[in-house]
Amino acid sequence: SKGQGGNHYSFYTAEMGAQAYEHLRMEGALQRALQRQEFLLHYQPVVDIGSGVVTGVEALLRWQPLDREMVSPAEFIPLAEETGLIVPIGDWVLATAMRQQKAWVDAGLPPVRVSVNLSARQFLGQDVAQRVGVLLKETGCDPAFLTLEITESVLMENPVAATETMGRLAAMGVQLAIDDFGTGYSSLASLKRFPIHSLKIDRSFVMDLTQDADDAAIVNAVIALAHSMKLNVIAEGVETQEQLAFLQQHGCDQMQGYCFSRPVAPQGIEAMLRREA
Ligand code: C2E
Ligand code: CA
Ligand code: CA
Ligand code: CA
Repeated sequence: SKGQGGNHYSFYTAEMGAQAYEHLRMEGALQRALQRQEFLLHYQPVVDIGSGVVTGVEALLRWQPLDREMVSPAEFIPLAEETGLIVPIGDWVLATAMRQQKAWVDAGLPPVRVSVNLSARQFLGQDVAQRVGVLLKETGCDPAFLTLEITESVLMENPVAATETMGRLAAMGVQLAIDDFGTGYSSLASLKRFPIHSLKIDRSFVMDLTQDADDAAIVNAVIALAHSMKLNVIAEGVETQEQLAFLQQHGCDQMQGYCFSRPVAPQGIEAMLRREA
């Protein structure tokens, strides 16, 4: 009855610490952000290490609340994942990035590969292959220029479902990349059974590459093994010329990082592509 409900309410209120309250407040704010269209995508160029040509871009989510500073994904993605809001938000990201890929082609620019991050919940919880199929038709995005990035942990969490989903995506011509490689527990050998196209070496290994002999050895080994498995290797978070030179010498295929460009608004990418064309 009503009395009990009241007790219930005060019980939970008492239990809620500042953190839980903040959690609820943010959840509401994220939900409204989606309705108010406060999300946007920035794109970071992915560059061919040999030629310096921009071959692709990674779509990175940004939240621009009205009259407030831009919020970085590190601050809201974990919460969006916890609350499940990452599914509708991620769907918006996917649709927007795919539409952007087509818009650049329509603007007469050389075709550019667009990479989209998929969270575990998006990849395992929802029929993502079916959704991508629908969006390919709706947006006119070329599947040959779409890459979906997932982390190793997603594959290890449910290898059977992941293999099935990846097989269906690969059959549509969509490429798959393993993000943050090296931070999980999977070995390259265990990745062999998945239809993967690229490996992205996590920034934490690239960061100390030129100071830390262990990191240098890891990066080297990953490049060599990945190549023996016919995988494309992308280094993330390349900030210095020294890091770039090391990666060049050791045959890394592509890179992204502040030394070339930070993530920028779509207009910035368009300008870059026009300069190159
Ligand atoms: P990530 O997928 O590993 O993306 C790379 C992150 O490294 C981006 O941070 C990028 O801005 C940053 N970065 C790139 N180059 C450099 C560099 O040279 N130095 C440094 N210090 N950082 C660099 P960002 O945009 O803050 O995104 C953080 C993470 O949030 C992403 O890591 C990804 O895990 C997640 N994320 C971003 N957008 C999405 C999205 O649309 N969906 C999902 N599920 N996750 C996303
Ligand atoms: Ca990524
Ligand atoms: Ca990454
Ligand atoms: Ca990362």
